[in-house]
Amino acid sequence: MAAPSTSFAHMGLDPRLLQAIAELGWASPTLIQDKAIPLALEGKDLLARARTGSGKTAAYAIPLIQRLLQLKQGPAVQEQAVRALVLVPTKELGRQATTMLRDLAAYCTRHVRIADLSAPTEPAAQRPLLMEKPDVVVGTPGRVLAHVLSHGLSLRNSLELLVLDEADLLLSFGFEDDLKSLLCHLPRIHQSFLMSATFSPDVEALKELVLHNPVTLRLQEARLPGPAQLQQWRLELGTEEDKCLVLYALLKLGLLRGRALLFAGALERGYRLRLFLEQLGLPAGLLNAQLPARSRCHILSQFNQGFYDYLIATDELDTVKSQAQARTRRKARKGPKADKGQDPEFGVSRGIDFQDVAAVINFDVPPTLEAYVHRAGRTARADNPGTVLTFVLPSECPQLDAIEEVLGADNAEAAIQPYQFHMEEIEGLRYRCRDAMRSVTKQAIKEARLRDIKDELLNSEKLKTYFEDNPRDLHLLRHDRPLHPAIIKPHLRHVPDYLVPPSLRSVARPHLSKRKRQRHKPPAHNRAGFQSRGTRNPLRSFRYLGRKPRRLAKKEEETIA
Ligand code: AMP
Repeated sequence: MAAPSTSFAHMGLDPRLLQAIAELGWASPTLIQDKAIPLALEGKDLLARARTGSGKTAAYAIPLIQRLLQLKQGPAVQEQAVRALVLVPTKELGRQATTMLRDLAAYCTRHVRIADLSAPTEPAAQRPLLMEKPDVVVGTPGRVLAHVLSHGLSLRNSLELLVLDEADLLLSFGFEDDLKSLLCHLPRIHQSFLMSATFSPDVEALKELVLHNPVTLRLQEARLPGPAQLQQWRLELGTEEDKCLVLYALLKLGLLRGRALLFAGALERGYRLRLFLEQLGLPAGLLNAQLPARSRCHILSQFNQGFYDYLIATDELDTVKSQAQARTRRKARKGPKADKGQDPEFGVSRGIDFQDVAAVINFDVPPTLEAYVHRAGRTARADNPGTVLTFVLPSECPQLDAIEEVLGADNAEAAIQPYQFHMEEIEGLRYRCRDAMRSVTKQAIKEARLRDIKDELLNSEKLKTYFEDNPRDLHLLRHDRPLHPAIIKPHLRHVPDYLVPPSLRSVARPHLSKRKRQRHKPPAHNRAGFQSRGTRNPLRSFRYLGRKPRRLAKKEEETIA
C-alpha cells in the first residue's frame, strides 16, 4: 500500500473523532482514506474503487460523522432527523459498518446515534428505533425501502448523505429495483459516496443515477495486494485424501502459524471438513448460510474474539446467483419470500472483516476469479501481511489456471507460486489421516447438520413460548440423540514424536523442548520438506507471515499444543 501523504490530525477532524481513531490504534490513514476524506469533507460526491480490506468503510464513515458533528454544532438548531443512510448488500456487512461507525463515534454518542436495520430483528421491532430518528441508518436496500413504504422512516426532508457500500454486490445481490425505488424517496440534493471493489457497467449506470459530478478514485488497479503483503501459493495434489493429509500436517504440526479461514466448495464439504478437524482435536467454526443471521453473527464474533483459530466457510457464489434469481422471481410474482433454503442476504467471503486472519486456505479451488479475490481479501487486510494457499486436484487445475492468468495479467509480480511439498515426508501421518476421514461418514455429516438445526430450535426466541406450552416436545427434542454421530478417537488428537518427520522436528511441534529441538536440527537445504522454485522458502513464509494465534481459552490451547 503506498504511503499516504497526510495524517488524520491534519485533516481538520473533530477532536472526538481523532480520539476515537487513536483508540482504534490507527497511526495514519490508508491510501483510500488519505484521498477520499479531504474530498468528502469538501462536499464532493465520490466514486471510489478500493480493494476489499483497504479501509474503505472508515473512508466514508469518518467524513460522515464529521459532517454530522458540524451540523449539530452549527448556529441553527437542528431538529433530530435521519441525516445519513448507509446501504449495504448483506446483514453481516451492515453489522460491520455499524460497528465501525459506532467505534468512530464512541466519543460523541449523544450527538451521533446509529441504527442498524440489517440486524436480525423483525421489521416491527425496529419501528421504535426509527421513531427516535437516529442520525445514521444502516441497512440493506430491501429493508430500508420496506420501512420507507410503511412510513416508519422518512428521508425526503432530512437526508444529507447517502453511502452505497460494496455497490457491485448491491447489484449482484439483486437489489437494483429496490435501490431505484428508494432513490425516489430521497431529497434531490444530498452528498453521495459510492464504494465498489469493481467498476462494472452496472456500477457505471448506478453512478449516473446516484452521483452528481463525482470525483472518481481508482486507487487500486490490482485486485489483490502485492507479494510483499500477500503471498499466494498453489499446491497440486493427487487425491482428496492428499488434501486432508496436507491440511493435517499444516495444522497439527503447527506449520501454519496464526488463524486461518478454510474455504470449501459446498456446505456438505464444509461439514466434512469441520468433522475431520474435530477428529484431530482442532475446534473450528462453520459458517452456514442455512442458519439464521443471528447464529451466523454469533459464529463470526466467536471467531473474531479468538474462541477458535479456524473458521470454515463455503463459497456463496451459488447463493448469490440463486438469491438474485429468487428475488427477481419473487418480484415478478409479487409474492412472499420464496427461497426458504439460504438466507438471501447472506455473504461470507464478500466484504466481511474477519479479524487476524493469517492465512486463507482454499481447500477447494474457488469457482471464479471473483470468488478467489473475495476469499483472498479476507487476509492481508489494511497493512497486515497474509497468505493464500490453494489446494488443487488435477480436475481443478484448469479452473485455477484461468484465475491465475487474469491475476498475473493484473500484476505480474503478484502471481500464484507453486508450493512444493514433499509428500513423502508426511506419509507417516497418512494412516491416521485415513482413520480420521473414515469416521466422517455421510451419516455423521447428516447428524451434524441436524444437530445444528436442533440447537437452533432449542435456542430460538420465537419458539420459547411454544416450548413453554408444549414441554413434551422440548423434552423429546433435547433427548433426541443422534444415531450415527462421528466417533471421536482420542488418540487422533495427538501426533506421537515418531510420526513427526525428522526434517520438521525443529519447526513443527512447538512444544518440543529446546534441547530436543537442538538435537533435531534439520538439514539446511531441505528444511521441513518444503521447497519452492523461487528463492523464498514457502515454509518460512508460511511460518513467519502468520502471526501467532491470540491466547485462547486454556482448554483449546491444550488441544492444539
Ligand atoms: P475495510 O476495508 O473497511 O473492511 O477495513 C479493513 C480493516 O482495516 C478493518 O479491520 C479496519 O479496522 C482496518 N483499518 C481501517 N482503517 C485503518 C487505518 N487507518 N489503519 C489501520 N487499520 C485500519
